[in-house]
Amino acid sequence: MDSVGVAAAAPEAGPGPAWQSKCPWGAPSTTSISCSLADVMSEQLAKELQLEEENAAFPEVVAAAEGPFITGENIDTSSDLMLAQMLQMEFDREYDAQLRREEKKINGDSKVSISFENYRKVHPYDSDSSEDEVDWQDTRHDPYRADKPTTTPRRGFIGKGKDITTKHDEVVCGRKNTARMENFAPEFQVGDGIGMDLKLSNQVFNALKQHAYSEERRSARLHEKKEHSTAEKAVDPKTRLLLYKMVNSGMLETITGCISTGKESVVFHAYGGNATEDKVIPPECAIKVFKTTLNEFKNRDKYIKDDYRFKDRFSKLNPRKIIRMWAEKEMHNLTRMQDAGIPCPQVVILKKHVLVMSFIGQDQVPAPKLKDVTLSSEDMKKAYYQILNMMQQLYRECNLVHADLSEYNMLWHDGKVWLIDVSQSVEPTHPHGLEFLFRDCRNVSQFFQKGGVAEALNERELFNAVSGLNITADNEVDFQAEIEALEKMNEDHVQNHGKKLSTFSSDGDPPIYDE
Ligand code: ADP
Ligand code: MG
Repeated sequence: MDSVGVAAAAPEAGPGPAWQSKCPWGAPSTTSISCSLADVMSEQLAKELQLEEENAAFPEVVAAAEGPFITGENIDTSSDLMLAQMLQMEFDREYDAQLRREEKKINGDSKVSISFENYRKVHPYDSDSSEDEVDWQDTRHDPYRADKPTTTPRRGFIGKGKDITTKHDEVVCGRKNTARMENFAPEFQVGDGIGMDLKLSNQVFNALKQHAYSEERRSARLHEKKEHSTAEKAVDPKTRLLLYKMVNSGMLETITGCISTGKESVVFHAYGGNATEDKVIPPECAIKVFKTTLNEFKNRDKYIKDDYRFKDRFSKLNPRKIIRMWAEKEMHNLTRMQDAGIPCPQVVILKKHVLVMSFIGQDQVPAPKLKDVTLSSEDMKKAYYQILNMMQQLYRECNLVHADLSEYNMLWHDGKVWLIDVSQSVEPTHPHGLEFLFRDCRNVSQFFQKGGVAEALNERELFNAVSGLNITADNEVDFQAEIEALEKMNEDHVQNHGKKLSTFSSDGDPPIYDE
């Protein structure tokens, strides 16, 4: 008992150590007891109770206080320490109360509120929040799980006897749950039921909360997907950065706008910038951005995975890198065509999945596609012979088959035809190369025959004229069968010799091997 009595426990004689007299928490020097036994008893009782409470609140602080200065024997000062801590506690509570007032003042009735929770000194100030409240974490995986067993709250009841209402009361709980809907994400429409006397059962509330939560995550995922893909007309942030860099470096002056949005690519127009030591930038450029959404390219695997130039790499690459290979393929094919003198865009630069080339057209207006332009019969004939010639050059000099040749990928500019869109072009010895060539020939023949060019060869004649093969079948089915037989012969050769034929031989001669 003595240990808690401030006056009774003070040293009986002498002024005490110097620090005691200076310390504001030091024991008073007087030793006289000026109150009755009853007073002392009641005061002691009060202090005992207080101590109990404090010990519960600061168990470790008391233990830590037993340092070199304040030892367990220093009974008076440990009591002072209590007082100090109590005062501090009082001060902290005051401080927190002030914070709460501030918070209230700032937030008012606003649904969006700020919290000073992190600045509070006494945590948690609302420690009476009970463990049996609907808990998001607890119910996330099983919203229909039965409630935890309820514990009787300390003060959570109203009324008496039979009319007692605890906070687990269905009505109270329901109202609380309804109010909590306000905390759902702003985009989650909860309607105006909050203003009505709605009572949501825990089950319903949990199911709604689960839904709100998964909706929030879904929209975050969608947003992310959108950010990472080349959207309809826009480009993803990484591509944007690539384009900014091109402008910043002065290679391009400005990017003016989008010319075309296809399934696999978006094409922009740009004005060329300054030439570098090794590069002359055309005055107008086309920027072809290969879409980084992967779906469309899946259909086109066959063009690239069997192309021996890319075959080895194909198997090792992730889909994103494969898309870069499309851009790379277009660049290589355009370069080959340029070297052969075939009218086509000139490659300026390739950066990842972005290919910059010269612009076919003028003053931001792209040259029209052959399908969109009305040519005189003279020009039609001229165009036809030019294309026949280009197909032969492509096959023989560039060792390429366009593989998507049609009036959609030929532009009419400066009185001649320009070939574009060669990312899918393959070498003739590609396992399906001859089939692709036959398809190209069919497109060209049909277009010019319909366009009134009397001289236009039919697809089989055109195929033989381009490839130099002499397939004699006079109907399409047999013709195609012969094409496939040739392709198979080539594949067998690869199997047996580990090497492709350099070319297909005509009229049944043994194929010319590239030994
Ligand atoms: P896709 O694979 O989407 O068909 P293309 O290479 O055919 O890609 O380009 C789509 C469109 O963009 C073309 O039809 C053409 O109108 C325009 N375009 C592409 N490249 C150029 C270029 N170098 N100059 C002018 N227009 C171009
Ligand atoms: Mg195209």
